[in-house]
Amino acid sequence: MAGILFIISAPSGSGKSTLVNELRQQVAGIDFAVSWTTRAPRGSEENGREYNFTTREEFERMIEQDLFLEHAEVFGNYYGTARQSLDEALAVGHDLMLDIDVQGATQVRAKMPAAVSIFVLPPNPKILRTRLRNRSRAEGVVNESELYRRLSEASREIENYRDYGYILVNDVLDRAVAQLEAIVQAERFYRNGETIAHRFRRVLEVAAACLQKNSQERLKPVLEAFGIDGPPGQQPLLFGDDSDDD
Ligand code: ADP
Ligand code: 5GP
Repeated sequence: MAGILFIISAPSGSGKSTLVNELRQQVAGIDFAVSWTTRAPRGSEENGREYNFTTREEFERMIEQDLFLEHAEVFGNYYGTARQSLDEALAVGHDLMLDIDVQGATQVRAKMPAAVSIFVLPPNPKILRTRLRNRSRAEGVVNESELYRRLSEASREIENYRDYGYILVNDVLDRAVAQLEAIVQAERFYRNGETIAHRFRRVLEVAAACLQKNSQERLKPVLEAFGIDGPPGQQPLLFGDDSDDD
């Protein structure tokens, strides 16, 4: 592939779509695959823009026809990336970003080991819960069971963070956007020999600080808050009193 394949994963509500939307506006030459899904459109989502919405029957037909680069069942619905997205980016020499879950990321890594993978973490479970709830409110539908389903899944997804080359903690949005942009620029520099002016050396430093292997200290409190890699028996605070949610 002439371009670079980027994979971005995160527990639902971490702010991955928000980050990716910001990146789209700031970086040229990168395509964003529109996935297929059997879930219903949410809020102002439009068919062909956020997702290609389809039925289970049609999705299963597409699986049989081997049209997917990867696909997975997430929260009871199918999600998948069409091979066509990759072919189209390849044809024009663009980079491609896939916003996919941890199962899909495993499938893509096995097929394309050179892919650059980025995992986005929310700062802690309480903030994750607040973001999920705020998003539901903004969309005019607060579905408590769907919300808790996504929250309960978060720790399990986060356990896969070690499979990702880069880790972002989406605390302050502007900083996380700058880090994501730095990762894209740094990978272009290293892989394609794209020149970076001397004053942009800082970009390489920002990206290097996000490498998983350089992030252990930064990640420790976040992982512990989700009950991962912390003292035995520690539980994430997902289901506590949420009367103080914003
Ligand atoms: P995801 O794509 O990971 O499921 P979204 O991008 O939809 O998550 O973000 C979930 C909610 O959190 C949205 O309401 C979004 O506006 C908000 N959000 C995203 N990033 C931040 C941030 N850094 N600070 C505060 N709110 C954020
Ligand atoms: P949501 O329903 O919130 O849009 O997405 C739920 C989850 O499905 C997120 O983790 C998102 O990254 C993942 N997802 C979206 N598109 C795809 C896809 O094409 N393949 C896979 N495997 N996961 C996807």
